[in-house]
Amino acid sequence: MYRKRRLSDLPFFRPVQEILSHYACPSTCPAICCKAADIYLDEDDLKILLKASEDKAGKIESCNEGKERYYKIPPPCPFLKSGKCSIYDKRPTMCRLFPFNVSTMPDVLALFPCDMAASIFEDYIEYSDNILKQPLPEKTIDDFEQSHCSFESRLNKGLPIPMLVIKIADLIPFKEYLRSGHF
Ligand code: SF4
Ligand code: SF4
Repeated sequence: MYRKRRLSDLPFFRPVQEILSHYACPSTCPAICCKAADIYLDEDDLKILLKASEDKAGKIESCNEGKERYYKIPPPCPFLKSGKCSIYDKRPTMCRLFPFNVSTMPDVLALFPCDMAASIFEDYIEYSDNILKQPLPEKTIDDFEQSHCSFESRLNKGLPIPMLVIKIADLIPFKEYLRSGHF
C-alpha cells in the first residue's frame, strides 16, 4: 500500500506525527530501530538519500514485486553514526513514524515495543480507561509488557518481535487527548 503512494500522503501520517511530538526517545536507547528492520523508501526518499551521501546510499537495495519497484535499506542503516541518525532532518518517511510501523492489515498500525512506545502505550492505557471508558484487556497490557521486556534479547537471537496493533481510527481521538493535556 505505502509503496505505491507516498507514506506521508496516507491519512495516518499527520496524526502520528502529532502523537510523536509529545514524546522523545530516551538518550539511553542506542537507536535500536535503526538496526532492527528494513527501511522502505519511496522515490522521493531515495532522491534525498542519494543527495545526502551517494556512498552510503550504495547500500540501498532496489527490489521488484510484480511490476512494482521499491527500495529498501537493510539493517543496520548506514546513516546511523555513533548511535544517532546522521541525516535526521532528511530521514526517510518511514523513519518519521518510529516506533509506529505500517502493518500488513490496512486498518491498523503496529507499535514496536521500545522505550518510547512504552511511554506512548502508558498514555494510551489511561486514554482507554478515562476517555473511552473501555479499559484495554489485561492480556493486551501483559503481552505488550512482555514484548517490551524481551524485545532486545529477541532481536539479538533473530526472533520475531511481537508488536501491539492500534486501530488507525483510534489515533485521531488519542492525538486530541494528548493535545488537551489531560493525561
Ligand atoms: S523509536 Fe524506540 S527504538 Fe527507536 S530510538 Fe526511539 S526509543 Fe529507541
Ligand atoms: S535514516 Fe536515520 S532514522 Fe532512518 S534508520 Fe537510518 S539512521 Fe535511523
